[in-house]
Amino acid sequence: EWDKEKKQEIEELKRMASYRREFLGNVSHELKTPIFNIQGYILSLLDGGIHDPDINKKFLKKADKSVNRMIAIVEDLEEINKLESGELKINKEIFDLIELTREVMDFMEMKAEKFNATINLKSPFKSAKTNADKRRIRQVLINLIDNAIKYGDIEHNQITISFYDFHDNYLVEVSDNGKGIPEEFLPRIFERFYRTEFSRSRDKGGSGLGLAIVKHIIEAHRQTISVRSQPGKGTTFSFTMKKV
Ligand code: ADP
Repeated sequence: EWDKEKKQEIEELKRMASYRREFLGNVSHELKTPIFNIQGYILSLLDGGIHDPDINKKFLKKADKSVNRMIAIVEDLEEINKLESGELKINKEIFDLIELTREVMDFMEMKAEKFNATINLKSPFKSAKTNADKRRIRQVLINLIDNAIKYGDIEHNQITISFYDFHDNYLVEVSDNGKGIPEEFLPRIFERFYRTEFSRSRDKGGSGLGLAIVKHIIEAHRQTISVRSQPGKGTTFSFTMKKV
């Protein structure tokens, strides 16, 4: 009996150690690209580029972009850390989900246009009052819409945000008509750093942390999020929010 318990403990420790190794490996891998890019720009500037006003501006701009990417990764990691350590405080307030969605749609409009995407809102009700952490739910909507834009159809991407009545909850769906996610990837899509090969190769600048953060936020509200997707047709993320 004692032996069995000890063995289980050791297995658990091993699992945690390998989890930790994988996490650290992922973090350094993500940070490496922007760091080496910045180093490359600096070396080119030192190598004479600094005297050419066109080149030095171009390279400094690129370096700035890489620094911003590093900041985004570190901020995502901090957010994940807070969410996973349980020290996260959900600051609830009563607000209208539809109003917030409209606000986020406006915020994302420029990016959507750049990617030939249109964002529509479909709702049977005019307002949807909920009691939740507004700033974090805004983050959820931004991440889901941002993904729908990035991974949607390149020619004419139709993004729809739909509201449904679902018992004590509202069901909110964000769908796109992009290339979708193959079924074998779906179970892992909310894991930290997880990306499909497709998005890795296209280098959309994501770190693979967005959906992990989204899931944490929804679960911290004791609500659920799920995904369904049809390759070639599109993807839909749906989450619930309690009515007040
Ligand atoms: P990233 O920063 O790479 O966008 P996310 O955690 O937000 O990270 O998403 C993880 C991965 O899930 C993405 O890299 C992409 O492969 C896939 N994905 C997310 N949303 C969509 C979508 N709407 N359509 C297709 N694939 C998606």
